[in-house]
Amino acid sequence: HAVPMPSDIRHADLVVNRSDHLKAKPRLDPIELKFGAVYTDHMLQVSWKEGPGWTGPSIDPLAPLTLHPCAQVLHYGSGCFEGMKAYKGKDQRLRLFRPDMNMERLSQSAARLTLPEFDKVELLECIKELVRLERDWVPAEEGFSLYIRPALIGTHPFLGLSPTREAMLFVVLSPVGPYFPSGLKPVKLFVETEVVRAYPGGVGDKKVGGNYAPTMLPQLRSAHRGCAQVLYVLQDGLPGGGLVGESGAMNVFFLLQENGMMELITPPLDGLILPGVTRDTVLAIARGFGNIKVSERNLRFDEIEHAAETGRLVEIFGTGTACAVQPITGLLKNDNTEITIPFDSEAAAHWLAKPPGMALAQPGSNEPFSLCGRLTRTLIDFQYGYVESPWSVPI
Ligand code: PMP
Repeated sequence: HAVPMPSDIRHADLVVNRSDHLKAKPRLDPIELKFGAVYTDHMLQVSWKEGPGWTGPSIDPLAPLTLHPCAQVLHYGSGCFEGMKAYKGKDQRLRLFRPDMNMERLSQSAARLTLPEFDKVELLECIKELVRLERDWVPAEEGFSLYIRPALIGTHPFLGLSPTREAMLFVVLSPVGPYFPSGLKPVKLFVETEVVRAYPGGVGDKKVGGNYAPTMLPQLRSAHRGCAQVLYVLQDGLPGGGLVGESGAMNVFFLLQENGMMELITPPLDGLILPGVTRDTVLAIARGFGNIKVSERNLRFDEIEHAAETGRLVEIFGTGTACAVQPITGLLKNDNTEITIPFDSEAAAHWLAKPPGMALAQPGSNEPFSLCGRLTRTLIDFQYGYVESPWSVPI
């Protein structure tokens, strides 16, 4: 007898069980709509078992999960996740932004944890269905979006350390307001040289839950010192010591100037940093600008200090789905010394106010300079469908 092939996730099998207790939509107030605090009415779920494979998928009313107390994820952190967004343009259409990259990254994270493979195209079709069902949760207003959180966890009730035999994948949605209700708001980062987030051979390039729990403490300490996030720099004395990595939930970019030439630098994908979707997008957009040299290369923290001292550090910013582009105006070190980078909010505002598509055009000779502002405007144009792009996927 032939062993039946394990089944995969199939959009055609999707069952929708609508909730009959729809929640009141939150007021679309940027302050009230705190990131990750409000969830929509429904969730997508699919379960997996070694042998039969995937069963489901279904869209159900959002509800707590029932897990055995020995479920692998609760003890050994067998879980990974993604973060992506749906944007509603002025044309009332919803769009995802490069969602294939999130499906691919989820698949890579899962494989590292022995969590099951899945059909990335079919899963994405199911996610689109969930977003369509919840379309009224997202206003057609610039800055607002629907944050999409897929998660894949090992549910096998077994305390031995073994590859995953049971798992579940679920997706929840959360409406989010503009990250910066009043334009780009710069923040300060704490330069973390004691805690190591990732190391060669580790999982720094995967979006696994285990990478994040240990970052809460350095994050809390940095908040006590007035910083919004941490910038991870490898300890001196270790191989790679002094190299800049990334921030808690953002990749980082440095714009340096030498003899009138601008160079935009971000650390390479060497396994130590998360391959951010926004990182990849910003690299492509900046390369398209043409007048800036764009480099993925290692950067030592003392190079940044030196550039700041000699007036060659022009901008620093972080990139991520949550914040898009986050200007950084201060790097606070453990000895309380601080590198400060001026932020030209008027120049940024000038670029943010550009009509659709105009941020891509070559700047005029007397236009103010703000790479942060120009990149943000360009990203918004693509994400909200003001400028057609294969990155933007209507649903
Ligand atoms: N680095 C880390 C550690 C992150 O958690 C994130 C958020 N996913 C990013 C960078 C930014 O990645 P993306 O642009 O894909 O959101």
